[in-house]
Amino acid sequence: MNTELRLEHNPLPQKRRRLPSAYDLAKVAFFFMGFPKNGFGSIDVTKRCNLRCRHCYYFAGPEEDLPNELSLDQWVARLEELKRAHKPWEFPFFNCTWVGGDPLIRKDVIERCKSYFRYNTIVTNGTIPLPDWPEINWYISIDGDAAMHEAIRDQHGNFRKNGRPGIHAKIKENVAKNKHLGITIAYCITRENVACIESVVKDWYETGARHITFDFFTPVAGIDDPLWLDYHERDQVIEMLIALRRIYGDFFIIPERVLRMMRSDRCRDITDNCLLRERSFAFDASGRQKGKCVMGDGADCDRCGCVVPYYLRSLTDREMILSDLGREALVAGRRLAERGLAQGIGVARGMGAQISI
Ligand code: SF4
Ligand code: SF4
Repeated sequence: MNTELRLEHNPLPQKRRRLPSAYDLAKVAFFFMGFPKNGFGSIDVTKRCNLRCRHCYYFAGPEEDLPNELSLDQWVARLEELKRAHKPWEFPFFNCTWVGGDPLIRKDVIERCKSYFRYNTIVTNGTIPLPDWPEINWYISIDGDAAMHEAIRDQHGNFRKNGRPGIHAKIKENVAKNKHLGITIAYCITRENVACIESVVKDWYETGARHITFDFFTPVAGIDDPLWLDYHERDQVIEMLIALRRIYGDFFIIPERVLRMMRSDRCRDITDNCLLRERSFAFDASGRQKGKCVMGDGADCDRCGCVVPYYLRSLTDREMILSDLGREALVAGRRLAERGLAQGIGVARGMGAQISI
């Protein structure tokens, strides 16, 4: 596999962040308070989707086995029941990721229920117009460049019938129209689309997405799925992602340390102790808790490529947090010293100028 960078990348220089990021604040909070049980989780708000992507875990089994959807009133009742049955620290209603199917098929439910949670994320395929909800963290799934994306997501060309633009063009329009929503592109890496990563990063940076993030495809346990990249291949791709992150900086929402944690020498420790499985909620469309995580009981934890367990570990590992905070303090100290030195030189120059006058 050739994972060398081939394209020219010239992202705009980034402004230096002055305030701590949400990531920094979360690290400090979890350092002192621990990772909250049920603080993070997901709701499959619908079992319907207008697409049938080749790698979709949701429609991997027979569709008649999918759970029935709760109505809007039933979802409200379910959340009220959770509130009544749990103390705030047992179910803090902190962060909910709305998924499906495509969650925007049930806009009515999300619109009514998002206020239960402090933070909300929606992961959509991007073909349905986005409601103007700027308080939401928006994620749109992209599986490659335009041709690859169409091949994976619209196998029968339904979106291209009668001269209509394909899915990729529709998403581009949706993102370009909604730059103010701060959309994150979510790319699930498979053997099929691994070669498109570099061009997709460049393309969506230039289109005006705010961030990009990556997962590796997670197969169903017991199935030798050709879409899965083995650990050696995955390690090579991680090196490429790190190289791109060093160019694009915070356009990559995943910190470099999280990418390093996905390497084969460390990943099993994290998935064996997965915080999603142990401390998060994942409700199916009928409001019941799913097996182990949003991907359902069939997902193979040993070959998991979902970035979330790694991200959560990076937020909660005290040793890492301390080393991060120490490094950040050092950088801040160095900047202060540089600024002091620069001011000192300025004052000395000023004095020199006065003396020579
Ligand atoms: S858009 Fe998402 S839910 Fe719909 S088929 Fe594709 S992967 Fe599955
Ligand atoms: S499949 Fe991945 S995210 Fe899901 S429970 Fe297993 S390790 Fe965690």
